[in-house]
Amino acid sequence: MSALLPTSTVGSLPKPAWLSEPEKLWSPWKLEGAELTEGKRDALLLAAGEQRAAGLDIVSDGEQTRQHFVTTFIEHLSGVDFENRETVRIRDRYDASVPTVVGTVGRERPVFADDAKTLRAHTDAPIKWALPGPMTMIDTLADKHYGSREELAWEFAAILNQEAKELEAAGVDIIQFDEPAFNVFFDDVKDWGVAALERAAEGLRCETAVHICYGYGIKANTDWKATLGAEWRQYEESFPLLQQSNIDIVSLERHNSHVPVDLIGLLRGKKVMVGAIDVATDAVETPDEVAATLRGVLEFVDADKLLPSTNCGMAPLARDVARGKMSALAAGAAIVRAELA
Ligand code: ZN
Repeated sequence: MSALLPTSTVGSLPKPAWLSEPEKLWSPWKLEGAELTEGKRDALLLAAGEQRAAGLDIVSDGEQTRQHFVTTFIEHLSGVDFENRETVRIRDRYDASVPTVVGTVGRERPVFADDAKTLRAHTDAPIKWALPGPMTMIDTLADKHYGSREELAWEFAAILNQEAKELEAAGVDIIQFDEPAFNVFFDDVKDWGVAALERAAEGLRCETAVHICYGYGIKANTDWKATLGAEWRQYEESFPLLQQSNIDIVSLERHNSHVPVDLIGLLRGKKVMVGAIDVATDAVETPDEVAATLRGVLEFVDADKLLPSTNCGMAPLARDVARGKMSALAAGAAIVRAELA
């Protein structure tokens, strides 16, 4: 791995067209049974190969085995009824049909450990694995059992901790919790959100990361961003709390975002995964644009703690666009790395 500025994506990559319909979130699988199992595995290895070919240092599974970053994990839990769906407002922003919690939630078997072992066997590069964070999980469900968002979050945190420990045992180097809900429910973040996240990461020896963000480049998110004004100061609420937490790395979007750059200084001491690739546009950044974004944050994060990345997952993009963006990220980081040497 490059000693300075190791590059990675936030997590998801587009899936091959033979596995599911491209450029679509929650796209249904095109295969079934054993063919689906094999197809997901093949796609995972393709995604890993494409990241290495693009020159990225830290490799993920591209989330090729999940239909959605939250619900695929929840599907493996008991206490959740997927037939009994309700329409709820997600992130206070858009309506979605989600499963319902109808009893005590529990995890009966590992969810991603086999996938992680597959990826581990395939590459010597450091590997990163994303899991949903506790608050984002409860925000993607209807609850008819607990009656308390906090209580359900603690249950999910304990379940995530079991899963994370198995991923660590499978050889995962960085476990990342995706918590876009941290940008919306500020009182909950303060009261129990960060504590529940720390519970999910408790006892891990591998590195831990949290990805907060303004969402994929889907319409509901871009419409919401248009209401946030010229300066996006949401991170001002969560960063001081995360700076004090035991999470090692904070991942945030930067390129083309209206986040004031100095907010990154609130994380001083932590490693920061800085998004230098906009996932809400098909325009592929030039290496010089990536380099400019990275140079712009060096005043606020020490070079040895900067991890160049994408703003968010790239699942909804076309594959050639995602490949171009990964190559630009690697090339842009190389420019700045040479300047720092
Ligand atoms: Zn994101």
